[in-house]
Amino acid sequence: MTPSFYYYLILGLIIANFIFEKYISMLNAGYFTKKVPELLKDIYNKEEYESSQSYKKTNYNFGIFTSTFSFIVILLFIIFGGFSLVDGLARSITQQPIAISLLFFGILGLANEIITLPFAYYQTFYIESSFGFNKSTKATFWLDKIKGLLLGIVLGGLILGAINWFYIQTTSHFWIYAWGLITGFSLLMNMFYAQFIVPIFNKQTPLEVGELKDAITTFATSVGFSIENIYVIDGSKRSTKANAYFSGFGSQKRITLYDTLINDLSNDEIVAVLAHEIGHYKKKHIIYNMLLSTLLTGLTFYILSLFIGTDTIAMALGVEKASFHIGLVAFGFLYAPISEVTGILMHLFSRKFEYQADNFAKKYCSNISLISALKTLSKKSLSNLTPHPWYVFVHYSHPTLLERINNLKKPAV
Ligand SMILES: [Zn+2]
Repeated sequence: MTPSFYYYLILGLIIANFIFEKYISMLNAGYFTKKVPELLKDIYNKEEYESSQSYKKTNYNFGIFTSTFSFIVILLFIIFGGFSLVDGLARSITQQPIAISLLFFGILGLANEIITLPFAYYQTFYIESSFGFNKSTKATFWLDKIKGLLLGIVLGGLILGAINWFYIQTTSHFWIYAWGLITGFSLLMNMFYAQFIVPIFNKQTPLEVGELKDAITTFATSVGFSIENIYVIDGSKRSTKANAYFSGFGSQKRITLYDTLINDLSNDEIVAVLAHEIGHYKKKHIIYNMLLSTLLTGLTFYILSLFIGTDTIAMALGVEKASFHIGLVAFGFLYAPISEVTGILMHLFSRKFEYQADNFAKKYCSNISLISALKTLSKKSLSNLTPHPWYVFVHYSHPTLLERINNLKKPAV
């Protein structure tokens, strides 16, 4: 293969992906005005439904604008040799290969951050604000950005630096070490996310003794699930949207409830949501997910190792000689269709797991409480009640609200 073959392949893949994504979103937008299914009619009143319709349309138009903008920027960047320019810039500052790569990604990352910043600002303070979701102050927004950037530089820099070092030391075998590193890192992240990462952005306080705590503990004990750590997080500091999640393993495992969830749902509904989460644990979904993503990571690194040292691919991006960072970028473009497919497969598994967790909640807790909780959460986030099936197939990690309610209404087995 010649460099120009890869050059046109990369451009073609970017264009194909853009057209595919726009087409799917367009189909989905065509469903916005579809009749609301009978089972979901009691979620919104007329006024609220109009508001949800306008929220969907606003987000759709904004998505078209931002994705078209980044599509054009990326195409122009490749066509006008942007990667070779940044590569040259990094090389003019240092000769140390790992430092060159880190600088290269640092410059690209910073440029990306600066370009996307106005969009993030607009989304938070214009779109989310005008629909009453946003609670972030300007100070919170900027602090989040700065903290996120610093965290990205430290963690991203350490990981990229280490993988690059493996590459320099072992060339074609580097993928095994990189695989081990990423697996170890995600295991650590899973265990200690709540202790080390969350506190950078949020305040967590143990759930106070009272009816809710009793209800949760009673239910957990009844299904043989021991949980000592139940925390409330100040999600209301940024948004009115509500959430709850589990994290960690073994003695580190904990439930985190958004304060917004406690305000919006009754105790029975909260217990039903947690019953669903405990269902994920009991059905070993956490372990399956980790295994699956570990396998995928290994496969990805292995394929990367076949590409990364090839000069042809570097030349496709306008750079004369292969290097770790140019190989990684070119691979990122070429691998996109495969990761699109694996993403769809992961969503397929995820939707299956969601049904299983719902079934667990239905069997051991209450389908009525879970249904009303899902309806309230859906209403509070102005969610789309009539998504297009193709859009669901490609992008949804959860079944649609209608599918979940239909399943929850069936008798428990
Ligand atoms: Zn779930």
